[in-house]
Amino acid sequence: MFDKLKQKLSQTREFFSRIEQLFQSNKPQPELLEELYELLILADVGVATSDRIISGLRERVRKTGSADLKALLKQELIAMLSNRPATASDAWPAVWMLVGVNGGGKTTSAAKLAYRYQALGKKVMLAAADTFRAAAQEQLQLWGRRLNLPVVQGQSGADPASVVYDAIQSFKARNFDLLLVDTAGRLHTYGNLMAELEKIKKVISRELPGAPQEILLVLDSTIGQNAIVQAREFNRFSGITGIFLTKLDGTARGGSVLAVAEELHLPVKFMGIGESESDLLEFSPESFVEALLS
Ligand code: GDP
Repeated sequence: MFDKLKQKLSQTREFFSRIEQLFQSNKPQPELLEELYELLILADVGVATSDRIISGLRERVRKTGSADLKALLKQELIAMLSNRPATASDAWPAVWMLVGVNGGGKTTSAAKLAYRYQALGKKVMLAAADTFRAAAQEQLQLWGRRLNLPVVQGQSGADPASVVYDAIQSFKARNFDLLLVDTAGRLHTYGNLMAELEKIKKVISRELPGAPQEILLVLDSTIGQNAIVQAREFNRFSGITGIFLTKLDGTARGGSVLAVAEELHLPVKFMGIGESESDLLEFSPESFVEALLS
């Protein structure tokens, strides 16, 4: 799995190899930290997070007296990514919602989660709560056929909360373990969208106490710092439990993981590393940092 991560992160790794080269140079420490800061910014880590990394690194140098900056940087990044627990809920039966803007990878990510938990022996059902886009529903149906699992959908334009209500009744009656709810990524305004999501969430918690166990914000890593802007909008919607960061393959902007985790105070729980159902990895701070800086 670690080799797969390294391979899929190749473009981001290429970028981080400049940091490796910097550590191998014999530059004096102040200059080195200055350049490291610039490289972090270029790697889409963002100004605020890069500031924090550099000051954390200075602190570690001071405390340990060590000159092994690479090892200290790894420690700093792992600590930063470990601030919040990254493991997904393992309570069953469970309802998980996927939220995020269109095109970010919600539907594909729902399919990946379905595939993963099916492989773990769970009975998985999908609900197409984006009733505004016919294409989104069709796509989820296609995944359902491919993975051989039921997909609940409503009429085009139906109230998404009522589709979710129906899905939960079927989910409970058939004793399934995991219901994945794919939601709309766009309405006339963000305000409307957030109200819609709140309504869906309310129906879920009313129909299944303790649910939704996860509300995953799906973010496209290729848009770098814009992911933060998007996430801030979605953070107005209460209860997001973690990030599903998609498209980490094919981008040099994997450094945005650090900014996302740090600035949004949310754990990254899953990573999407391709377009097929098996292209999912659970996020591990240690493996991620090791993959970037090895
Ligand atoms: P949604 O509108 O948020 O539901 O997004 P979709 O699931 O339809 O995904 C939009 C596009 O991104 C599709 O072409 C997906 O195949 C692609 N995609 C989703 N996740 C990944 C990923 O992890 N890596 C790559 N390379 N493409 C992805």
